[in-house]
Amino acid sequence: LRVLGIETSCDETAAALVERAPDGSGAIVSNVVMSQIEEHAAFGGVVPELAARAHVAVLDTLVAEALSQGNVALGDVDAIAATAGPGLIGGLIVGLMTGKALARAADKPLYAINHLEGHALTARLTDGVAFPYLMLLVSGGHTQLVLAKGVGKYRRWGTTIDDALGEAFDKTAKLLGLGYPGGPAVEAAARTGDPRRFAFPRPLRGNPGLDFSFSGLKTAVRQAAEALVPLADQDVADIVASFQAAIVDTLKERLSRAAARFRDECEAADPTLVVAGGVAANGAIRAMLTDFCAGEGFRFVAPQPALCTDNAAMIAWAGAERAALGLPPAEMTVAARSRWPLDETADALIGSGR
Ligand code: ATP
Ligand code: MG
Ligand code: FE
Repeated sequence: LRVLGIETSCDETAAALVERAPDGSGAIVSNVVMSQIEEHAAFGGVVPELAARAHVAVLDTLVAEALSQGNVALGDVDAIAATAGPGLIGGLIVGLMTGKALARAADKPLYAINHLEGHALTARLTDGVAFPYLMLLVSGGHTQLVLAKGVGKYRRWGTTIDDALGEAFDKTAKLLGLGYPGGPAVEAAARTGDPRRFAFPRPLRGNPGLDFSFSGLKTAVRQAAEALVPLADQDVADIVASFQAAIVDTLKERLSRAAARFRDECEAADPTLVVAGGVAANGAIRAMLTDFCAGEGFRFVAPQPALCTDNAAMIAWAGAERAALGLPPAEMTVAARSRWPLDETADALIGSGR
């Protein structure tokens, strides 16, 4: 089963080809991504209108590139999968319309994919992980703990009640003049800092649920920085090291609760934690996750960073999983959805036009 995937939900334009073998194993045939980071850097964040225009400008070329790298003609793919949400509506419309046009032209089924399902299923493509498993999704737009029970069967156990984790990294970097995107800059600066100099809050610590909150941490960082103006390089390093330590602690506390709940509610011979999203590139967070899983007896699966951030291979793969199960493709009337919680990615909703 060979699927062409398209991803345009945020600031990456991407096209990819994946293959799924009858035994359920997957292979990436081609995977092209064009990041718009430079176009948005001057504005310190993603500008939706610019993003939509940039998707229009390059998507056709990327699709052609993905096909030619795989030595595959459009007529030789079995299905087309395009992200239909959640994300920036302009970009989603560009990708979904392109997917519809290609599907119509080649007379192939179209799968309208939930971007978060793409992230959630990546570990099955890369590592063949079996259901059920626990997923931590930490990106620029999302911070979620998800139970993946099956294709189209997800339970969101926790989410952020304010900022996403990547957003917290980006805002902290902006505040301290470290540039955009902020995650890698914060991580680099934190290496020479003292993580104990500032006692930043661990938001929602001890709270019985599995939600996250990062806005209080952001405020504490701003207050610490304002009290020290003018900031020396060492002050900045100490602030971001203390900020990162607070985040590592917070994630760990939430994960211990999630792991306990997983053990209570799920029968899994091989309990597994999967991480996804751009923040998963962070070395301190990865190190904590590795330790945490070793301590809890969980298998830890972290796809390579290029497959943790936005890409079309994960969208193609989600389409392949759906096609392999015989789930119905989308109607040509299916609409893009800027908001689309993963829990609602039930089979009945696909193709319903919602
Ligand atoms: P979404 O996937 O939720 O729609 P997005 O496209 O912004 O949002 P990604 O591309 O997966 O998300 O990730 C980008 C985010 O990851 C940015 O917020 C960036 O700062 C953060 N990030 C990247 N590298 C690191 C790092 N080393 N440490 C911390 N954060 C990082
Ligand atoms: Mg991105
Ligand atoms: Fe994403």
